[in-house]
Amino acid sequence: MATNRTKQVSTLRVGRLFATPGRRPPNYGATVRIDNGVIVGVKTAGRIDDVRSGRHLVAMPALANAHDHGRGLHHVAFGAKDQQFELWRPALYAHPPVDPYLNAALAYGRLARAGVGSVMHVHSSILVHRLIDDAEAICRAARDVGIRLAFVVPLRDKQSLGHADDEELIALHDPRDHDTIRQTWLYDFPPPDEYMQLVKEIARRVEGPTISVQYGPNSPQACTDALLERIAASAAADGRRVTTHFLETRVQRQWADATYPQGFVKHLDQLGVLSERFTGAHGVWLRPDDVDLLAERGAQIAVNTSSNLRLRSGIAPVAQYIKSGMRFSFGIDSFSFDDDDDAFREMRVGHWLHSLNQSDAPLATEKLFEGWHRNAFYAVNNSDDYGEVKAGAPADLVVLDYDAMAYDIIEGMAEELDIILTRAGNRYIDRVIVAGREIVRGGKVLGIDMDAVEKEVLAQARAAGDDMRQLKPVLDRSTATLDEFYRSGKHAAQ
Ligand SMILES: [Zn+2]
Repeated sequence: MATNRTKQVSTLRVGRLFATPGRRPPNYGATVRIDNGVIVGVKTAGRIDDVRSGRHLVAMPALANAHDHGRGLHHVAFGAKDQQFELWRPALYAHPPVDPYLNAALAYGRLARAGVGSVMHVHSSILVHRLIDDAEAICRAARDVGIRLAFVVPLRDKQSLGHADDEELIALHDPRDHDTIRQTWLYDFPPPDEYMQLVKEIARRVEGPTISVQYGPNSPQACTDALLERIAASAAADGRRVTTHFLETRVQRQWADATYPQGFVKHLDQLGVLSERFTGAHGVWLRPDDVDLLAERGAQIAVNTSSNLRLRSGIAPVAQYIKSGMRFSFGIDSFSFDDDDDAFREMRVGHWLHSLNQSDAPLATEKLFEGWHRNAFYAVNNSDDYGEVKAGAPADLVVLDYDAMAYDIIEGMAEELDIILTRAGNRYIDRVIVAGREIVRGGKVLGIDMDAVEKEVLAQARAAGDDMRQLKPVLDRSTATLDEFYRSGKHAAQ
């Protein structure tokens, strides 16, 4: 279903160019020249009318999505409804066996269409025997769509079922379900050595100019200290980045406080996990001293605003991030506001929530764009050279129809950036260019046939309907058991 219709771009002409949105006003009548994936020159005439074609367009660096799972099939489609994270998570066991290439291609196509050029793919399936094949299929999907990708290799070796020993949690479940849980939800974990070999092998097969591999401890609580230490040492040796879910929910915070009374984040630091290569997703429940320590180590947090609302996790303390001078980026986490991966809407929701009137460090537009551009690109691609349209920068650009967004604006009464912040979204995306290749044109994904891919993903998912419906009562019972367990506070009684 790849169409191979993406093509190299040598010149982009737009009426308005935000070379560094939030920092400087737009340039008018801009021509961006591109060669070999890199911007080689930017000329501005000073007047919109000086570009013949593209007068109605506005361009800026393409957005980067610092945390995602590449799920083409939406959660609610297979019964994983929005609710408290710990109760939502078991529903992932019902995810149907959809072809990994198609599932990822669908997700990446949607993100590309939203103006996203770089994606962090945190792989969720831990089926080790399939990991290499899955990684190759997923990275092929990224190449066909034309986005940059970080494939984050899933690593874990404890606490599969929740915040307690697996056996202890199984014992709380309905006896009818013990066999199913043991046979299909639990598996033997490879030792750290084998995991490190796996990361190396996947990297050998998939890495290239637009694709890289990262270490992905699923969450620190799902890894033994031995595994975390190996990850930290391997990342320090080979320079690859480390991405993990990090203090996303209140339950995680309670577990961490009970398990590490001297400080969970400090403990991770002692294991060597925190560094400038570290991206923690969410960080909703970080405390000021945690954030100070992360800032000191040069680590960053990927904020996932809609996901944190949909899974009832809370609102990330972005004001604290700003006060501590910690880097932060933004991600979508396969949980966009309306399940349409509209990255500009995610930007808008984040902007609103993190610049409330009572905030003592409201999120300024400069920081907002720095999060979606420079910091997220760094998290995904491990390169700090992004966020400004200038000669020498990667040629990743998103182009929107400015005149359509500004159809009712009375001249001289509104700043261009405010129009973007208020209205930019999927329906105004005109073109997306990544590494000098045009991957979206006229709002259409060029590299794959999106309609055909979506149709096939849904057909495959529905074909597994009988199995999924059979599992549903087990999942419902498991959710009720976990609800009772977390309500009892036993996860925090060490
Ligand atoms: Zn996630």
